[in-house]
Amino acid sequence: MEEKNLKISIAHLYPELLNLYGDMGNIITLIKRCEWRGIGVEFEQIHVGDQIKNHDLYFIGGGQDKQQEDVAQELYSHKSELTAQRDDGAVFLGICGGYQLFGHYYQPHDKDKLVGISLMDAYTIAGNKRFIGNVTVKTDFLTPSTLVGFENHSGLTYLEGDSKPLGIVSVGNGNNGKDGFEGGRYMNVFGTYLHGSLLPKNPHFADYLISLALEKRYGEKITLSSLDDKLEFDTHNSLINKAY
Ligand code: GLN
Repeated sequence: MEEKNLKISIAHLYPELLNLYGDMGNIITLIKRCEWRGIGVEFEQIHVGDQIKNHDLYFIGGGQDKQQEDVAQELYSHKSELTAQRDDGAVFLGICGGYQLFGHYYQPHDKDKLVGISLMDAYTIAGNKRFIGNVTVKTDFLTPSTLVGFENHSGLTYLEGDSKPLGIVSVGNGNNGKDGFEGGRYMNVFGTYLHGSLLPKNPHFADYLISLALEKRYGEKITLSSLDDKLEFDTHNSLINKAY
């Protein structure tokens, strides 16, 4: 299928609450990498109180504990629709606080547990140390294999069941600083602690997500045309294994 005849629909969940450390840059990257190829994009911001329609790709950013509390209850009220979307192959990308809410719960230090929507089998408990700094991850599903980004979280996330990590940390802490894992994946649901924002300097991951969203919509694998990613990969490569 020619790219000019394709389109995907993208929803940004609660940008007014969870959009820390430039997470909006992920949405801009997804939209631009479609537009540069002539692929149509239907884009919708979802705010507290809105209905959530069917989309091919859902994005949610990170935020402080307070904003997470504001979002958790609202997100939980849409658990059944979003679970059905996951089961239908929709792509999800959650960053940090948003990632934590994709799991079963986030237990802050001295507050009530925030119940997640269990899109992936994982849980998060507040740690005693804040993990702040650059992160490099080695994946087994991307070419090049690396993902680079910036972490700033105290939550410690543990994967269970069929959830798989995005990859193994070579620099930084990742999910919990203990098991060497960063991020999580179940079906087409992806979560990660990598802020920065993530996708502008990981264009191969952005294209991977776009391809999955197109496959969900059209029911077949679609190979994307190449873009001139010299600037993006020069940036990516300059950050590999760079701690600070
Ligand atoms: N409040 C959560 C934590 O500190 C998430 C922070 C974030 O989204 N950067 O772990």
